[in-house]
Amino acid sequence: MLKRPLQAARTLARHGLQRAASRFGPQRRTSRSPRLWILMYHRILPAEQAAAEGEEPGMYVTPETFANHLRWVRECLHVVRLGEWVQRVQTGEIVPANACAITFDDGWRDNVEHALPLLVESNTPATVFAVSHMVGTTGQFWPNRLSRLLDQRGEAVLSDPAWGWLQQLAASLPGGLRSALTSAEARSALIHRCKQLSDALLNQRLDELERRPPALPPPPRSLMNWEELRTMMDTGLVEIGSHSCHHYRLGPELSTEITQREIIASQKRLEAELGRPIPLFCYPNGDYTASAAVQVAKHYQAAVTTQRGINTADTPMNRLLRIGLHENATSHYHAFMARLSGWRV
Ligand SMILES: [Zn+2]
Repeated sequence: MLKRPLQAARTLARHGLQRAASRFGPQRRTSRSPRLWILMYHRILPAEQAAAEGEEPGMYVTPETFANHLRWVRECLHVVRLGEWVQRVQTGEIVPANACAITFDDGWRDNVEHALPLLVESNTPATVFAVSHMVGTTGQFWPNRLSRLLDQRGEAVLSDPAWGWLQQLAASLPGGLRSALTSAEARSALIHRCKQLSDALLNQRLDELERRPPALPPPPRSLMNWEELRTMMDTGLVEIGSHSCHHYRLGPELSTEITQREIIASQKRLEAELGRPIPLFCYPNGDYTASAAVQVAKHYQAAVTTQRGINTADTPMNRLLRIGLHENATSHYHAFMARLSGWRV
């Protein structure tokens, strides 16, 4: 009986806090030392396509919402290209007091289809972080492989012993593994739980499951190819950065040798294919060890994390902070502005 009024009161309170953050957050003030907001996007997808692909709610915004963001952000921030801001700060040149850079992780094909026309129309610079050894392939990241398998196999996964490891991981979810078959939020929570396992182990387990009959339909190519990356660059608005070779998390479980290769070989491959220097790096899943960050600093001018915050001149260039945007949290004006504030409202 009480639950609904309580929920309504909480929603009202949250909206009130969002309005305050929207009106009085740091994005509304200029400071003496320059600051940089870096917005983090992944996919730009129409809602029905996101639902059809079982994409996590945190992974996309719709083209309509993205178009709104591009308008709203200009009310208080000066949009710059990330590489240019880094270069200017490092050479002591003047940068806008409140600058903002737009970034896209992973190199999704929907970026060229849905984001690029909006970037061109609004003359907005952006950075795309591509996974060098997956460009143009039908390779998929493990969360998408897992999601496809759950959709294809359906209720069979609840009792099949081959899925035991996932049944165990899902045991503490309210509603267990069954909830991950029907709810996008539950699936997202399950994917979060899977991160306890290494990328190598997850990929190996998914290889085994995919090999079992019935055969899966071939996956669509959802990442950009080289030509599409060049199309983005040729507008003069988009720069490409490295997001490693295979999107392995650069955590302590990954060997030093593979970590180095992911950092260095990805840069070489992108430079060879695109004919430009690649001075920016993005840590897969935001994970890095101290030694990975040192390696990155050796080979790149700057790197971005997934840690939330607003950068100042004192933020280390190899660990820049970002603000993640996704449809559910930012489709309304005050919710977007509150997100820019960096406050947790
Ligand atoms: Zn990524």
